[in-house]
Amino acid sequence: MATETKTKSVGGDSKMKAGLIWFNGQMVPQEEAKVSVLTHALHYGTSIFEGLRAYNTPQGPAIFRLQEHTERFFHSAKVMMFELPFSPEQINQAIQEVVRANGYTSCYIRPLAWMGAHTLGVNPLPNNPAEVMIAAWEWGTYLGEEAVRKGARLITSSWARFPANVMPGKAKVGGNYVNSALARVEAQQAGADEALLLDKEGFVAEGSGENIFFIRHGVLYAVEHSVNLMGITRDSVITIARDLGYEVREVRATRDQLYMADEVFMVGTAAEVTPVSYLDHRAIGTGKAGEHTMKIRAAYMDVVHGKNPKYAAWLTYVK
Ligand SMILES: *Cc1c(COP(=O)(O)O)cnc(C)c1O
Repeated sequence: MATETKTKSVGGDSKMKAGLIWFNGQMVPQEEAKVSVLTHALHYGTSIFEGLRAYNTPQGPAIFRLQEHTERFFHSAKVMMFELPFSPEQINQAIQEVVRANGYTSCYIRPLAWMGAHTLGVNPLPNNPAEVMIAAWEWGTYLGEEAVRKGARLITSSWARFPANVMPGKAKVGGNYVNSALARVEAQQAGADEALLLDKEGFVAEGSGENIFFIRHGVLYAVEHSVNLMGITRDSVITIARDLGYEVREVRATRDQLYMADEVFMVGTAAEVTPVSYLDHRAIGTGKAGEHTMKIRAAYMDVVHGKNPKYAAWLTYVK
């Protein structure tokens, strides 16, 4: 059965090693970056976060689309009415500092802001400003090398993606991920790699942390935003695919449309571009990683690794 071994919690068996963490403005060792058990966010999910990657490039480590991630971090804060005691420029600098201080050549970076331990009334705002930390760790392919080579196996979750008037799905809010975690656990218990969530009308929404694309007759279809997170990888892939000459259409899609597609793939900062080989026990196309998918994946990997000068503006070099 598929299990996650790379994502054990810090409290679990301490497999996660994040080295130096930027904690409310100070660089501290992981063991010292601690919070109270009365933290509001721990009780009610009142946190917001980001996920970025730094890649090794010929000119050293570079963070991919730093500005866009920081902007979304502040937008998520705005949705929750969190005040952040740092400016976007300070967060940009701090993200770079975490990569630099740990000497990473490539890593996953997790900025997090949360409501602290001043009140446990449900209204979080008496806790403003929020607390902020940025951690980074070395993290390979999110769904595993095998999923990239052979394609990931997905099942449609019995958990629907929440409607827009239930949870703020465009914001990376901690509490939203109860939905993602339930779906992912269900998928993994069923022996699949990842879950596909539908919206409340039954249309394709997204993976637990990835946006969905499919290909039919050489045309690339990006599943429209609707209730989904507006992924930065999705935006990057649309741009890159158009430059490769693909016609790209944004559509509302059904699950049987995915069954009939020639290729399906998932994108996200963590998952990068991961082919999907099976959905609900049906082979997608040939049941292997798709040709167009792998071409788009290769182009994406070139861009993030600084091998395509056309996209130099998307990279922030950590000097
Ligand atoms: C973070 C996330 C994505 C991917 O967004 P990127 O900006 O590409 O990393 C997609 N869906 C959900 C639910 C997410 O949390």
